[in-house]
Amino acid sequence: MATTRFAPSPTGYLHIGGLRTALYSWLWARKTKGAFKLRIEDTDLARNSAEATKKIVEAFEWVGLDYDGEVVYQSDRFDLYKGYIQQLLDEGKAYYCYMTKEELDRLREEQMARKERPRYDGRYRDFTGTPPSGVDPVVRIKAPLEGKIVFDDGIKGTITIDASEVDDFIIARSDGTPTYNFVVAIDDALMGMTDVIRGDDHLYNTPKQIIVYEALGFKLPRFYHVPMILGPDGKKLSKRHGATDVMEYKAQGYLPEALLNFLVRLGWSHGDQEIFSVDEMLEYFDPADINSSASQYNPDKLLWLNAHYIKNTPNDKLAKLLEEFGLYLLSHDKREILLDIFKERCKTLKEMAEQIKEVLETPESYDEKALKKAFKGEAAENLKAFAQALEEADNLHLPSDYHTLLERFVQEREIGFGKIGMPLRVALIGRLGGPDLSDVMSIIGRDESIARIEKLLKSLEG
Ligand code: GLU
Repeated sequence: MATTRFAPSPTGYLHIGGLRTALYSWLWARKTKGAFKLRIEDTDLARNSAEATKKIVEAFEWVGLDYDGEVVYQSDRFDLYKGYIQQLLDEGKAYYCYMTKEELDRLREEQMARKERPRYDGRYRDFTGTPPSGVDPVVRIKAPLEGKIVFDDGIKGTITIDASEVDDFIIARSDGTPTYNFVVAIDDALMGMTDVIRGDDHLYNTPKQIIVYEALGFKLPRFYHVPMILGPDGKKLSKRHGATDVMEYKAQGYLPEALLNFLVRLGWSHGDQEIFSVDEMLEYFDPADINSSASQYNPDKLLWLNAHYIKNTPNDKLAKLLEEFGLYLLSHDKREILLDIFKERCKTLKEMAEQIKEVLETPESYDEKALKKAFKGEAAENLKAFAQALEEADNLHLPSDYHTLLERFVQEREIGFGKIGMPLRVALIGRLGGPDLSDVMSIIGRDESIARIEKLLKSLEG
């Protein structure tokens, strides 16, 4: 039974890197029938945490990640942290440091001049004299002076840090507020974390947090530091390449199933399987199998997965989802055929809504290039004759009826299919490309097909 958490700093929105670690943590908790908690790390940003939390919760809801219990806000817990600071002071495991900013700066400069790594020199660690007046002290924790800090990372293996690399870091600022690594360790311990899965940008916070755990006698969780997601160019993931609000994926027409599937595979695998339902993720996921090297964001793969999930979504659900994109099909009489056709062709809901609208709505204008390409030679005459053929035909209902009519038409006129296909396409949907013409005509019906042809022919005259 694993207890895990997602602990975002409320920076405004949930981005996909965050969602990925949240997903890994959630999967591990749910798989092991443990608990998954949400904690907002808002000690610095207390003011806007409510808004940011709302956004994170909204994104969680969209993708279907649920959390247990109430959201924990660090900003509500200052008294608790203060209690632990006092405890460490009382036990002699932490101490007041009266160094001024100027003194610290000077120390840093001297160390740098000697080509040493800047670190606090411990001058107040065993101080027993009279403290200087007029300085609000910070509180520093006593870090080990020698030896090594060792922990076994579930992804990166054994991490060993020499004690000399961690100085007596500040746990309370001069205004009494606690610092980041101190509160994270306390919260993870008090919230019962057994497994901490987070980005490897936090790897070097872990030794500091371990010092806090040890000073307070807390049991250490198991740590998993997940390598970053790189952009398609192999560099840090940029906004343009996907480092953006998770809800932006919703707006772009991605299904949450596709996004989760994409994210679970960005850094984890199970054989060569690519498609994972959430149930399968739950069955196979183990954080110990997370890759130890960085993964690369591949937008084509996300599109491919999205197309897969769109294809496999029942039509009534699709119709509902498409309403977000301004397409209302729930009571449309051609709903099934429309959705059957377009779910096979489209990679996003947005694209699907646009393409369906293109079929359902009479074109307002025509693509210039398409007009030029399609209307050469006899095109207009052919189109006119086809409108006539539509008029005269009986029994035009199914796509196959229209298909037969088109075939007969090109045979009788002894023309290649393109000679009618291209102009007809421009008339019906305003451009080249798009779905099968017989499908389009069957959906909009004979009268509308004729009306669209006449509209285009008229515009050519004008
Ligand atoms: N608040 C940190 C962040 O948003 C995460 C800390 C953690 O997971 O330990 O990057």
